[in-house]
Amino acid sequence: MQTFCPCFGINRAAAILSPGSADADPLLLSWGLLRDAQARGARLIDAMVTAYHDAPGAVTVETDGPFVIEARHVILATGYVMPDFVRSEIHRTASSWAIATIPQAPGTLWPGGELIWEASETYNYVRTTADGRIIIGGEDDDTVDPAVHDEKMPAKSAKLADSLTKLWPAANPATEFSWSGAFGETDDGLPLIGAVPGMPRILAAYGYGGNGITFSFMASWILAELCAGHHEGWFDAFAIDRPSPRL
Ligand SMILES: Cc1cc2nc3c(=O)[nH]c(=O)nc-3n(C[C@H](O)[C@H](O)[C@H](O)COP(=O)(O)OP(=O)(O)OC[C@H]3O[C@@H](n4cnc5c(N)ncnc54)[C@H](O)[C@@H]3O)c2cc1C
Repeated sequence: MQTFCPCFGINRAAAILSPGSADADPLLLSWGLLRDAQARGARLIDAMVTAYHDAPGAVTVETDGPFVIEARHVILATGYVMPDFVRSEIHRTASSWAIATIPQAPGTLWPGGELIWEASETYNYVRTTADGRIIIGGEDDDTVDPAVHDEKMPAKSAKLADSLTKLWPAANPATEFSWSGAFGETDDGLPLIGAVPGMPRILAAYGYGGNGITFSFMASWILAELCAGHHEGWFDAFAIDRPSPRL
């Protein structure tokens, strides 16, 4: 049964309205975090890591540039590409697509600019931008090859535009930008955060799925605690070597 909620003008059987959500420009957010880290003494090095050596007192990291880095702890945060020594039976790679429409006519967006998450089996998320566009994303599948991403872009974009029109008929779905990318996810939906088994000085944060903002914050908190020698029982829910719930 579909009911009409007069607050939002969206027809759905039910919805949860959560306070305290936020959106951000990911590029500006990343630059801001890096600038803040530098201001606190971090050194940024532009290089690919090519090898890791875990010894009892320190970890040494080799790069494809002139740098060799030694540290008490190393945190791996290399996205969906994990080094061979990180083994997880529940991790897999997925891809997601998104489009941004042209700026919408004044008065045609939903009133509060809420972030919308359509929790159907093929989920969609929808948000607005400061210049009045609508961004809608989803259409995930297991593509990894960037060339195949490009091939699928027209069909995925059309599907997203169609989903937008069904959700918000007043929207003009004309698409100005479209993009896609890959990320790691897990069978149980929780990220992989913790020490790499057998390598206590190498820690890792992977498998955020579509929840990079939320899970990266959690990872920063948990990994800082682990580096400081503190462990809490609930950290084990994110252990890198936890078994699959499907077994
Ligand atoms: C289209 C799309 C839309 C999304 N939308 C949202 C959203 O709305 N909200 C949300 O919370 N999440 C979203 N996500 C998920 C989010 O982007 C990811 O969960 C998040 O980016 C993962 O962060 P990460 O730092 O672990 O990895 P990444 O962002 O993949 O970064 C890993 C970095 O490590 C680098 N790297 C890899 N190997 C090496 C090496 N050997 N040496 C040096 N550097 C290396 C890579 O070049 C890369 O820069 C979306 C993902 C996609 C693809």
